[in-house]
Amino acid sequence: MTPLEILASLGATDDTEFYTPMPPGYKPGKTKYVVVFGTVMSGLGKGILAASLAKLLKDKGLTVAPIKLEGYLNLDSGTLNPFRHGEVFVLDDGIECDMDLGTYERMLDQDLSRLNFSTSGQIFSRVLEKERKGSYLGRDVQMIPHVTGEVKARLRELAVASDADVVFVEIGGTVGDVENAYLIEAARQLAYEEGFNSTCFVALTYILEPAALGEQKSKAAQLGIRSLLERGVQPHILACRARHPVSRKVREKLALYSSVPMDRVFSMHDCESIYLIPEMLRGAGLDTAVIDILQLGDRVHSELEGRAHQAWLDYVHRLRSADRTITIGITGKYTSVRDSYASVIKAFEHAGAHAGAKVEIDWIDTADITSGNVAERLAHCHGILTPGGFGARGAEGKITCIRHAREAGVPFLGICYGFQMAVIEFARHVCRLDGANSTEIDHETPHPVIDILPEQKQIEGLGGNMRLGGRDVQLKPGTLAAQIFNHAPEVRMRFRHRWEVEPRYIETLERAGLIFSGKAPDFPIMQILELPTNAHPFFIATQAHAEMTSRPLRPDPLYVGLVRAALARLSQSLSDAAAGTTATRASG
Ligand code: GLN
Repeated sequence: MTPLEILASLGATDDTEFYTPMPPGYKPGKTKYVVVFGTVMSGLGKGILAASLAKLLKDKGLTVAPIKLEGYLNLDSGTLNPFRHGEVFVLDDGIECDMDLGTYERMLDQDLSRLNFSTSGQIFSRVLEKERKGSYLGRDVQMIPHVTGEVKARLRELAVASDADVVFVEIGGTVGDVENAYLIEAARQLAYEEGFNSTCFVALTYILEPAALGEQKSKAAQLGIRSLLERGVQPHILACRARHPVSRKVREKLALYSSVPMDRVFSMHDCESIYLIPEMLRGAGLDTAVIDILQLGDRVHSELEGRAHQAWLDYVHRLRSADRTITIGITGKYTSVRDSYASVIKAFEHAGAHAGAKVEIDWIDTADITSGNVAERLAHCHGILTPGGFGARGAEGKITCIRHAREAGVPFLGICYGFQMAVIEFARHVCRLDGANSTEIDHETPHPVIDILPEQKQIEGLGGNMRLGGRDVQLKPGTLAAQIFNHAPEVRMRFRHRWEVEPRYIETLERAGLIFSGKAPDFPIMQILELPTNAHPFFIATQAHAEMTSRPLRPDPLYVGLVRAALARLSQSLSDAAAGTTATRASG
């Protein structure tokens, strides 16, 4: 009898020490598991490794489902400060989660849901709810087996819902943390219960290269892996992050130390773009190692792999071969921390590869932008993006930048807060609604063009909370938005906002020339705005986070639009400069 058969025969009785709730419909053996652990330090790219590996297996025709297990107690990432934790990513079903989920969606070109994201807060509240309901049959509720049992249940629920061949589990934090110790223990138990060839443990580690020594040192990695071994987890694969390709000597040391065969100790050194990592791992044979360990050879469809592989290589090629460089100014608040705009950066990467441009981003802190310095500060930008944000800091500077973009014909894309700022700017300077503002910034504004509309929120059944997740956007025919989205009547976009355009100002704004080209189908919620193309080459904004649905092979059309408009501005300035030189020569 396998451990799972024993468990099945015992059921939920109180005369067993096992506690492993099995979700209905679970088929033992159908789903295999890859678990990625991080050692030495955080921030090494566990998510990127897991996502790349999942992509390689998906390319082979396997169904994959990733899950991130966070150690923190928050129920979701909604209240996390992006300045500390990186951007809050929103999935279509409205859950606010870690930015790694964005990496998974982009790499896999697959929409995820709350089943793909778990925190200790979620696990513990489930345990406490069950305890109140008496579901533990009079037992004292313990970390093992009850809490670990819920973790395994989460993984198996995902297996059932996704019908995946492989579930990729990313354990948050670093081995040795107090927070994730029970998650590591749950992974160990899972492998035990599922049996041989069911679970592949991958340890991501870090090789130090101290400048003063000029060589790679493996001690920190050895200690990190030892810490994993002490927890009963024997890794099958080691992935070594490092600045440079990891030397054979270092890989030999790690292999000996951790009992991982040499050909399963991989170098995952720095490369230009994370989109080159799948190819690097494939070249090194990491995908076939996982297929062998999990004995998935008979589920591989090699004929599919060639096509997927080629499409990806084409993308990477376009990414590297773009020969024109444009500069986009991002007028934001958290401009010193790039992680807080991770999806925006990625969306530009996708759009740039698509349009044949290398996008250089200039981070512009709007706190010190004034009408006196704005033209000079933005002079080198071929396009401007005002991203999402919260609170008053830097808002006036953003409005000043948007006014400059509108008046000087600089291509502009506003995102969420940037959309709201564009409405305020237009209301103040075109509609002459002096002091127009958002009530998020000024409660006393005489013209609350951006406001919270409780009645609308009630209609949507969201109470006073944020409007979160995927929503349909109805496009107005004949507009720039309709053209950008290829004349689709409706598109689905992701939202995360509380404020919106106050409907009683819509007529005034439209009469003055602003076009609301995207609306919610059933409510007067404005979702895309634009200026007529005869008035401005490219001025568009959306209440949605368009960057969150941008994918390497399916870039977001609004970002592509901005990049194309910026390229046109670049060509124009080059030909103006050439004409200027000719004119100077002619006159000289
Ligand atoms: N602060 C604005 C709101 O809540 C915009 C939010 C955002 O940019 N994500 O509506």
